[in-house]
Amino acid sequence: MKPDPVRRRLLGLLALGLLAGILSVAAAEKTPGQSYFDAARYVEYVAGDLPIVLTAPHGGRLKPDAIPNRTKGVTDMDANTQELARAVLDALRARTGRHAHLVASHLHRSKLDPNREIEEAAQGDPIAQRAWRDFHAAIEGALAAAVARHGFAFLIDLHGHAHPIARLEIGYALDAKQLNRDDKSFDASGVMQLGTLRDLHARLGGSAAALLRGPGSLGDLFEARGLRATPSLKEPQPGEHPFFSGGYIVRRHAAAPDTPKVDGLQIECPRPGVRDTPENRARFAKITAEVLAVFLKANYGFDLDPKK
Ligand SMILES: [Zn+2]
Repeated sequence: MKPDPVRRRLLGLLALGLLAGILSVAAAEKTPGQSYFDAARYVEYVAGDLPIVLTAPHGGRLKPDAIPNRTKGVTDMDANTQELARAVLDALRARTGRHAHLVASHLHRSKLDPNREIEEAAQGDPIAQRAWRDFHAAIEGALAAAVARHGFAFLIDLHGHAHPIARLEIGYALDAKQLNRDDKSFDASGVMQLGTLRDLHARLGGSAAALLRGPGSLGDLFEARGLRATPSLKEPQPGEHPFFSGGYIVRRHAAAPDTPKVDGLQIECPRPGVRDTPENRARFAKITAEVLAVFLKANYGFDLDPKK
């Protein structure tokens, strides 16, 4: 039986829509909790209705032959960081009944590194370049949807490190040299304007050092719940130890001057106790939801918890 012309035309339109990529639908029109993909299924966007946007650029495992291996820069994946990001989504949903946004790259880092500018990220390959653009467009869409709904967005870029000290390294796009100053000299330096909490600090005023590592800072809230972190009240400065300060994603989408109403951070997670087992990922996720509830309430007046 031959399909009639109307039916054939509808099927054709449907195929075209799939080829164009469902990611291109505006984030605000998507269903919270549902996953959307680009045509090649290299980039996944889980739509949300909270102001929190998670990104997992280095947790992908796909190695398609169609994309040549990257030959420059780091090509190792951050093991289990996509699973870690999904655990945070689950913990937030369990706590609030609502959904954070997630943008995850399914490509292995040997094929694409979305946490670099496009030249190093895709190294000239058009398929990888397209996935890079889809990844960043999905972040922009998620942030815009969060700002439209809540008046602000909070970006959390999740990574894994293998440094000798097993602590969370909190990347505010400020490096160890800047953070190793004492509070007075840090505040006087004005570098907070280059960091991922620039908009929050501009709104709140006061000591920049206190916002980054004083009581109630993100590092302090993690420490108080048993997760070692720097910068924090206990470990205000990274010192001379290896420290990741925040990469392309948080610098472009949260720290840049053209990102008003977007704040955030990069979290570099050690493997032992955080990324290694489903139980530890769930524990980290539950603590992260608690930390966000306290921090967003205190600094944005946003209530993460459901109405009693
Ligand atoms: Zn990473």
